[in-house]
Amino acid sequence: MRIDIITIFPKMFDPVLNASMMKRAQNNGKAEIFVHDLRDYTRDRHRKVDDRPFGGGSGMVLSPEPLFRAVEKIKQKVSAVGGKSKKQKTKVILLCPQGRKFNQKTAKSLSRCSHLILVCGHYEGVDERVRQHLADEDISIGDYVLTGGELAAMVLTDAVVRLLPGVLGDKNSLNFESFEGNLLEYPQYTRPSVFRGMHVPEILLTGDHKKIEAWRRKEAVKKTRRNRPDLLRLDKNNVPRLSAKKFR
Ligand code: SAM
Repeated sequence: MRIDIITIFPKMFDPVLNASMMKRAQNNGKAEIFVHDLRDYTRDRHRKVDDRPFGGGSGMVLSPEPLFRAVEKIKQKVSAVGGKSKKQKTKVILLCPQGRKFNQKTAKSLSRCSHLILVCGHYEGVDERVRQHLADEDISIGDYVLTGGELAAMVLTDAVVRLLPGVLGDKNSLNFESFEGNLLEYPQYTRPSVFRGMHVPEILLTGDHKKIEAWRRKEAVKKTRRNRPDLLRLDKNNVPRLSAKKFR
């Protein structure tokens, strides 16, 4: 997968893209990630990317011109590299608090794309024509307002890239994590079995995998009911409908 990120703060991405799984995914050729400075796509001497909002109001709005030019140039470059035989399907995503809320299902569907272009807004936001005529989708990472789209683009990139085949060492860890089968993950423990008088649940030390699986399922349901009841699909008797998935 190739991801191109358009931003006015390209340096913000260095630490995130050069560490941990994101770095590994790039080193292993699973993901190519390019960060573009929006100012490189301006035409004026001052490299101006924003202007005052029509109709008045506070702050500045990112202008459409450099954003359209950046996306068009990137698409051209990618199709030239890919050639006719390797047709890239590009999806342009505008990070925006007014967008569709991001979740694991969206991350999964985006992980099947071959090319994403992420557009980061800033200041008061982005000229609406970008959303209407340039972006294929606008995505919010939650119901709060960030200063810019950079952190949102990092969240989306991380969530998507870790789902690419071969990025995580143990592919089972994808099957048994939160949001699979409409549940949050069960509680995890490691050594020591007693820490400052706090005990690991006895069942986990028994080696009885059947009982452990049943316990994990019960705990996952309990946690989901408590923290995210909206995820649970209940049958007519108010009992959660669970997938047949094994809990390791
Ligand atoms: N005036 C806008 C509003 O009220 O909806 C907020 C603009 S915000 C300060 C600046 C930029 O940060 C946005 O254009 C967007 O790119 C990004 N941003 C802020 N919150 C976000 C969120 N929850 N999800 C995704 N992007 C966000």
